[in-house]
Amino acid sequence: MHVVVIGGGIVGLSSAHALVEAGVDVTLLERGSFGAGSTARSAGGIRAQFSTPINVRLSRESLPVWESFEERFGVDVGFRQHGYLLLARTAASADAFAEHVAMQNRLGVDSELLTPRAATERCPGLDPEPFRAATYHARDGYADPNLAVQGYARAAREGGADLRAGTAVRDVRVADGRVTGVETDDGPIAADAVVNAAGAWAAGIASLAGRSLPIAPRRRQVAIVEPSDGIPETVPLTIDIDTGSYFRPEREGTALVGGHFTDEDPDVDPDAYGESMAFDWAATALDRAADYASYFGEASRLKRGWAGLYAVTPDHHPILEETLPGFVTAAGFSGHGFQHAPATGQVVAELCVDGAASLDGVDALASDRFESGDGPVERNVA
Ligand SMILES: Cc1cc2nc3c(=O)[nH]c(=O)nc-3n(C[C@H](O)[C@H](O)[C@H](O)COP(=O)(O)OP(=O)(O)OC[C@H]3O[C@@H](n4cnc5c(N)ncnc54)[C@H](O)[C@@H]3O)c2cc1C
Repeated sequence: MHVVVIGGGIVGLSSAHALVEAGVDVTLLERGSFGAGSTARSAGGIRAQFSTPINVRLSRESLPVWESFEERFGVDVGFRQHGYLLLARTAASADAFAEHVAMQNRLGVDSELLTPRAATERCPGLDPEPFRAATYHARDGYADPNLAVQGYARAAREGGADLRAGTAVRDVRVADGRVTGVETDDGPIAADAVVNAAGAWAAGIASLAGRSLPIAPRRRQVAIVEPSDGIPETVPLTIDIDTGSYFRPEREGTALVGGHFTDEDPDVDPDAYGESMAFDWAATALDRAADYASYFGEASRLKRGWAGLYAVTPDHHPILEETLPGFVTAAGFSGHGFQHAPATGQVVAELCVDGAASLDGVDALASDRFESGDGPVERNVA
């Protein structure tokens, strides 16, 4: 069996790796360089604290891979497991937190519901006053996406995958309702299956196969800040869920600060969006963080920042399915595609080889959920 994977971000590379492990011949086509799409622009967060069972399952399957990445792939991705701390300001969010933790615990995740005061033990600079509840999971954390790209690329290559950077897919070939290959700048490539792992470009690739998928490229920014007060390395990735503000320690005493603070969220052209951080956004992001954490006082200094793309679906879940015979979609991960890549690669390989995936509940990620409107909606997004 020969599979063409479109996209050399973390999802395409993890898929290529899982496919070669399953004995498949793989050609991966990346029009730029590996990881240089959304993956390199990610905050690297890895957590199990999601609000829907399917996202928790994707995390549960992925976490052991992140924890043993060096053993498996020979690359230390710097996975720092200081947990994620989620904070609720409203009664509705606090009630939802209690339900989420109960669901996560049922699925085998040891997350805990904390009082805001207890949360200050995890994050000493936290002001507990604005909050009603918090949740924490010690095995959550963050890792380096670029190193993860290297690890997956190396392992996929060693397994025999043909990984081609600088090769753009121009068309998807369909015959009698079945995808049979792709057209590239270097000519056609026939395949038994084609995987659409093109991230924020995935809707464009789907349209080449005659399918319309609701995957919208949306701009998101992060800033690297020198905090006014030293931020301990053990501080969790902390999210104020009702404002969307988040921060975590970065290297050498700096902090990464992020969030999206306006209702305006237009689709952008993934080939022509502003890749630089906007200074007015950074000022707002710092203000929001300063509102609940003492690390971000007036003496904080902005060092640098960037913008990247979330690939957003209406319910903040990916589309993971065989969209038409021979055409597998793995895209639309919103802000959680980096962390879910290990489980996703496995699902993709099973969809290509067996026609069905073994992960419980993965059927909920088929695109027909948007017609029925009864799909799960992820609430824990930032
Ligand atoms: C600011 C920010 C913070 C984030 N933080 C987190 C986080 O903390 N945790 C987390 O899990 N996720 C996070 N994310 C989301 C995460 O980055 C993405 O979900 C993930 O990287 C998606 O990986 P991907 O492989 O699907 O996409 P990409 O990395 O974008 O890869 C898709 C690739 O397809 C290629 N491509 C497109 N068109 C073609 C074509 N025609 N032919 C060939 N190749 C093509 C592109 O060049 C690109 O390299 C964040 C994202 C942003 C922007």
